[in-house]
Amino acid sequence: MEKIVLVVEDELLNRKLLRDILTHRGTVVIEAGTGREGVDLANEKKPDLILMDIQLPVMDGMEATRLIKANQTTRHIPIVALTGYAMEGDEKRMREAGCDEYLSKPFRVKELLKMIDSILGLRSIEGTGEKA
Ligand code: MN
Repeated sequence: MEKIVLVVEDELLNRKLLRDILTHRGTVVIEAGTGREGVDLANEKKPDLILMDIQLPVMDGMEATRLIKANQTTRHIPIVALTGYAMEGDEKRMREAGCDEYLSKPFRVKELLKMIDSILGLRSIEGTGEKA
């Protein structure tokens, strides 16, 4: 069964990059541009994984993560926080908000894929001859 990944990211170029990586990896990608939309889509679609930017309009990634993790029907969904311009304490704050993993931008594609594969239980790229 196809895995669904929700990308919550307001920068269109970053979103395109993540969409390309995930689509190539064989997952279905759904997208939100604000934290509010992200919370709503998580509720509606129950994705297998959420990639969450921190700096987002309307509602930031920290608040969106808190709401998703406070909701009984979405709290099991793993959230990977992706942050640009990582500030001192960002990781601690995001982990306190409830995110499961944390990657600061710019991340290496291989690093992101490894994390996604392990969370989704996909066979690792490594050793398959597939180009990352
Ligand atoms: Mn952003």
